[in-house]
Amino acid sequence: MARDSHGRTIDYLRISVTDRCNLRCMYCMPEEGVPFKPHGAMLTLEEIAQFVRLAAKEGFSRVRLTGGEPLVRLGIGELVHQIAHTPGIERIAMTTNGILLPKMADELRTAGLSRVNISLDTLDSEQFTRITRWGEINDVFAGIDAALAVGFAPVKINAVVVRSLNQDFLAFARLSVDRPLHVRFIEYMPVGTSEGTDGSGWAATDTIPNEELIALLDTQARAAGLGALIPLGDTARPEGWGPARYYHFEGAAGTIGFISAFSRHFCAECNRLRLTAEGALRPCLFSDVEFNVQDALRAGDDETVRRVLREALGAKPERHHNRVGTERLMSQIGG
Ligand code: SAM
Ligand code: SF4
Repeated sequence: MARDSHGRTIDYLRISVTDRCNLRCMYCMPEEGVPFKPHGAMLTLEEIAQFVRLAAKEGFSRVRLTGGEPLVRLGIGELVHQIAHTPGIERIAMTTNGILLPKMADELRTAGLSRVNISLDTLDSEQFTRITRWGEINDVFAGIDAALAVGFAPVKINAVVVRSLNQDFLAFARLSVDRPLHVRFIEYMPVGTSEGTDGSGWAATDTIPNEELIALLDTQARAAGLGALIPLGDTARPEGWGPARYYHFEGAAGTIGFISAFSRHFCAECNRLRLTAEGALRPCLFSDVEFNVQDALRAGDDETVRRVLREALGAKPERHHNRVGTERLMSQIGG
């Protein structure tokens, strides 16, 4: 079992398989996309698969593929298959914007993907197009339908909460009532050089602390006849590897989760290590300290890869200090 120098068990690997995306969410990526890097700068799928085999030997058992948009990476189904069949890897999940799921959900399920998180920050089609700069909300709705139809479980909906967007939280909460959808509200984080929602960048005032949101949603839901938000115990939460606090409405098929990476950091429960698309291990989302494993992977030097992995684990900080801005964008780190 892998442990870091603060005694935490680290067994969850988040891998960015590409820094490219078919959308341009304002808080994540500039309109022109990420600066061009030659294809050779990125890890190949075989290098990623080999890294996972070595990480499994170091005690990692859970993998999430993310990006950028993981579904725009050619050969992603084959990578899922290889990771799902890696000895020691028990579960593989993906975070996606859902646009390509209607075409790919079946293949991914067959390849061994068990669960998906689909990002959706608004239920209003015009606002969706504005936030993503050109996305069509119906494509995401179709992606959610496809995810449920092929049997991914749980299916989670990730909504980044930004005060100036005036999102309709109650509409999101209603999504959890009839279908087994697990809506999670995520605090807006100061990662990268986010343009914010008005071009002026991330602002602390745009982060709504979860406590405030829980109270607001509870009041709105009671007034709308949905009832109170009921806290869920550990056994009733949807399967997950992160620190969300979960609630539900009486009789609902799904749940509502709250993730407060910023206002109430959960570093004590941190269980993860990140691998960027270029092959850098990143001990903490909020720190630019990275460890290069690309060279060793390319040289086929497994011993060095494992040594660098252990060094990265040893460098995990005890906690982050709400730093604002990172050199890499969220899409490059793998959100
Ligand atoms: N393209 C995929 C997607 O959108 O789900 C995967 C990559 S995306 C970077 C992963 C997650 O990070 C998404 O849920 C996105 O909303 C979230 N994210 C991006 N920038 C963020 C920020 N500044 N604060 C909080 N979450 C952010
Ligand atoms: Fe693309 Fe996901 Fe970033 Fe949106 S949040 S721009 S979908 S990587």
